[in-house]
Amino acid sequence: MKIGIPRALFYYQYYPFWKTFFESLDQKIVLSSPTNKDLLKKGLELCVDDACLPVKIFHGHVANLIGKVDTIFIPRIISIEPKEYICPKFLGLPDMIKNSIPDLPDIIDVDLNLYKSKIMFFRHFIKLGEILNKNKKQILIAFNKAQRVQQRFEYQLIKEKIVPQDILSETYKISQNEIFSYNPSKLKVLLLGHHYNIYDDFISMNLIMKLRKKNVTFITSEMVTNKIIVEGTKNLSKDMFWTLGKKAIGTAYYYLERKKVDGIIHVASFGCGPDSLVGEILEKRTRRDFHIPFLFLNLDEHSGEAGFNTRLEAFLDVLEGRKYFEDNIPTYG
Ligand code: SF4
Repeated sequence: MKIGIPRALFYYQYYPFWKTFFESLDQKIVLSSPTNKDLLKKGLELCVDDACLPVKIFHGHVANLIGKVDTIFIPRIISIEPKEYICPKFLGLPDMIKNSIPDLPDIIDVDLNLYKSKIMFFRHFIKLGEILNKNKKQILIAFNKAQRVQQRFEYQLIKEKIVPQDILSETYKISQNEIFSYNPSKLKVLLLGHHYNIYDDFISMNLIMKLRKKNVTFITSEMVTNKIIVEGTKNLSKDMFWTLGKKAIGTAYYYLERKKVDGIIHVASFGCGPDSLVGEILEKRTRRDFHIPFLFLNLDEHSGEAGFNTRLEAFLDVLEGRKYFEDNIPTYG
């Protein structure tokens, strides 16, 4: 069977697992095209107006798979960590898609809900395997193999300080050693935001490539261990129950408290509820307690690349000015 996987949202986190699992069960994976203008246009036509940009783009990716596959995999993701949730848009995503896009093939929309226990991750894949008419032994073998591949993927991101595209995309190979060799004189920024925003080069307007070309070292939440996130969030007055927001705040506080970064770039989606709170907390604390420049990039389908580049360049100029010339330049330039 041909299973379509939209190259969007949790693709950037779980694709190695999904691909290995399905292929080990003799299924063929078909990915939607990388995000582009046409795909965005299609997503805008199909999706409700008040959704955030990544959800609109997800609609375009699903439409891109129609006619190429037997079924499309759109898990109903409710929680990916015990006692935490992710945004409710993921919970309703399969229903949104079914109601907005005509002529869909079958949709595999099994729940992924780890709120009560991590064991549910395994159960989620058991259910998937059963839908594909596989027996327990076959599912277990596929699951174990996929888990090893996923662990290696996550380890590589942390160890080599690379981004998912470096592993997932054949056309994205660059000289990692050259770019990431530690050099204290290089600018170092934290690049925060949901993985589906910062790693989708169309949404983020090639931000990662732009930083690399400027020779800026950057750290993302996917490049740090869970221990760092826990350490970074331990002094919060209240537990943060949004997994993606917690990752951003934990990464930021850990590096800020150790004075290990020159600035923060936060990429968010216009209209995103969780981001509006997380961004506010991050920006206030960064400016008030650490006096470090903070660039907030709020993206939607109307964002223009020229304005984006100007803001990015101005921000990097401020960082350079503070680092190499005068450290009394204010955080805003
Ligand atoms: S967290 Fe924000 S960007 Fe992500 S799906 Fe929800 S509303 Fe959209």
